[in-house]
Amino acid sequence: MNVTNKKGRVYLVGAGPGRPDLITVRGLELLKCANCVIYDKLANPALLNYTRPDAELLAVPKRVGPESFGQEQINNLLVQKAGEGKSVVRLKGGDPYIFGRGTEEAVVLAQAGIDFEVVPGVTAAIAASCYSGIALTDRAFASEVIFVTGHEAEGKQQTGIDWQLLAKFTGTIVFYMGMKNLDGITRRLIENGMSPDTSATVVADATLPTQKFVKATLETIADGCTKNKITPPALVFVGPTTAGDARLDWLAKLPLFGKTIVVTRDVVGNAEFAAKIASRMAVTVEMPVTKIKTLTDSGDFIKTLAQIKAYDWVIFTSCNGVETFFAAMAKLGKDARVFGSAKIAAIGVRTAETLARFGIKADFVPNAFTSKDLAAGLIEFTNLRDKKVLLLRSQIASDDLPQLLETAGASVNNVPVYTHEKNLCDFKIFSGMLTEKNVSWITFASPFAATCFFEQVPADFVKSSGAKVASIGPVTSKKLAELGVKVEVEAAEHTFDGLLVAIEQYEQRTTTK
Ligand code: SAH
Repeated sequence: MNVTNKKGRVYLVGAGPGRPDLITVRGLELLKCANCVIYDKLANPALLNYTRPDAELLAVPKRVGPESFGQEQINNLLVQKAGEGKSVVRLKGGDPYIFGRGTEEAVVLAQAGIDFEVVPGVTAAIAASCYSGIALTDRAFASEVIFVTGHEAEGKQQTGIDWQLLAKFTGTIVFYMGMKNLDGITRRLIENGMSPDTSATVVADATLPTQKFVKATLETIADGCTKNKITPPALVFVGPTTAGDARLDWLAKLPLFGKTIVVTRDVVGNAEFAAKIASRMAVTVEMPVTKIKTLTDSGDFIKTLAQIKAYDWVIFTSCNGVETFFAAMAKLGKDARVFGSAKIAAIGVRTAETLARFGIKADFVPNAFTSKDLAAGLIEFTNLRDKKVLLLRSQIASDDLPQLLETAGASVNNVPVYTHEKNLCDFKIFSGMLTEKNVSWITFASPFAATCFFEQVPADFVKSSGAKVASIGPVTSKKLAELGVKVEVEAAEHTFDGLLVAIEQYEQRTTTK
């Protein structure tokens, strides 16, 4: 893909309805290469994680000083950025041409002689249909679909909407932007002859962990939305199929759907965990109670680096260790060749994957999650007698691994490349959430995170909030017990996926009881 041609190119990309991974492959590919991304508030901000580190990211529309930044300014901005020779992704919620003013932007680009491409996106109505069990078409009940803007109906004399036709329509009608004027929409349909008993369903936050719907009739839907505190973005579905079929509501069956889960790692670790939580359709609250401090500026590390080729085995026990090591390496103008012929072991598939990103295929990846398992696996894999082993890991890691390797005859050098420190958080917001009992689970992935968290939040406070505590494994659970905290679930497999599986199993057990 050419991203540096002199005159830039603009890609009008549909971001999809909300859930970030519902963007198209083409859209994501372009997003990854763009020099400039101009995005709407409906496009999920998580998508911005895929952009280049040097990409310019601009949110629109926004208020710039007293002037509001409207469509015309957005059009000008597209022309300006393309004129700077940039590859511009204009990221728009849903599909660019469905109530997205995409054509207005494309016309301006065409007039300015700027090349553009339009990448379709999954529009909200289609996504909401799949995520709530409402069929837009049905062989028996709905042979037609209409997408209507609910905005138009707002007290306009001259409307582009044929209410008489809509009132007679026997298929499925979907109103976009209809929440502000829901009363007006339903009234007009009824006034024009549609039965007040016609099924009507509103779906808000479609495809997100916060998705909600209200099922009612044309007559009662507006009240239902007020009672259920439904807020935009939401769609109004009207027609025979829109009551949906509870059997098709697969989302409600996901054990973690809609649950709020607190993560308590460092910022990077939390983001990684949050992505896993989001894919299970739960809401994440990120509480970075720890932060990472690199230790690779120490003389000890630099000295080790100079002699690294002399080791038989170099062991990485975490992604953090790998990332920190290679960041230091880049700073020193070195690369993976420093390892020479030393063999490399990695705890866990994720660590091995991180190594692979730096061009290294680990020689040994035990099917293990703990230091003990790694030691046992490595001892079985190779004879360690008189072998020189280098451990590059966290300063606060336990002594189990070096001790076991030494027992097997290895000479072990343990060089910390990073450590975790306590990070002070904003507990005002958090304690508010806990008091309102919105949090279902608080997760802990290390004894240190548990200590840092409960130094900042009293254990009794968590208990009275009703939030349950989940631990990644026995060492963390032991620390939590020492802190006076009841551990509701402990992961059998000591990984983040394992932790989520344990929580899912708990939820399934307790809801089927
Ligand atoms: N181009 C977008 C629509 C933009 S108009 C698309 O193709 O989906 C904005 C309206 O879209 C909102 O007012 C709402 O009616 C609807 N919408 C967008 N995202 C939504 C979501 N996740 N859940 C429900 N409605 C959504």
